[in-house]
Amino acid sequence: MWRASILTIFPEMFPGPLALSLAGKALSSGVWSLDTHDIRDAASDRHRTVDDTPAGGGPGMVMKADVLARAIDAVPPDARPRLLMSPRGAPLTQSRVARLAAGQGAVIVCGRFEGVDERLIAARQLEEVSLGDFVLSGGEPAAIALLDACVRLLPGVMGKEASIAEESFADGLLEYPQYTRPPLWEGQPIPEVLLSGDHAKVKAWRQAEAERLTHERRPDLWAAYQARKKP
Ligand code: SAH
Repeated sequence: MWRASILTIFPEMFPGPLALSLAGKALSSGVWSLDTHDIRDAASDRHRTVDDTPAGGGPGMVMKADVLARAIDAVPPDARPRLLMSPRGAPLTQSRVARLAAGQGAVIVCGRFEGVDERLIAARQLEEVSLGDFVLSGGEPAAIALLDACVRLLPGVMGKEASIAEESFADGLLEYPQYTRPPLWEGQPIPEVLLSGDHAKVKAWRQAEAERLTHERRPDLWAAYQARKKP
């Protein structure tokens, strides 16, 4: 079973949306499991303090290394990677998601306030993972997004294995445009080739559209795709 352990000061945020739809079905059928650990349980004072003022001054609060370390150490160590959701981390990609999904699960630390004491990150070998170049108020929504992306790749979670192979980023390209009935909607037809029944033509059109969209919207992905295609 793929196992997710979450360290958070808001355990009630989980499973949240992961209790619904594909991820929720997979959770109740035992494809994956989720356990949450309240970081405040590792605090040592009456007020269950997890944060303190930043050394050097400045706004906000910083999550304490000693409290977080105790919380992490209470999760029995195993082969799972330990992730820290963080805007400074390597941006999450579909290939990282696929590697995580192929493993045994993940231990995920959710930051709050201004972040966590830097010393903890190396001391507990946390791998910083970012959802993108924007700032959330906490790591929980990022952890939920990461888990959603991983769980849908677990065997048996999605109906058709094939749809995984064809979607955005699977081959380094954005996905081609999709259409469904009716064939004419608000004066806009579905591209004729898709109704032709000619599978080779459909495939070629989809490939060309995927390349066009990636070229137009994501020069970074396009450059990497071009570089890979070179002999
Ligand atoms: N002061 C920090 C931001 C802290 S935001 C900075 O400027 O880098 C509080 C917490 O939200 C972070 O510790 C992290 O766990 C989470 N978080 C915020 N943005 C995120 C992002 N883009 N990806 C993943 N986690 C994020």
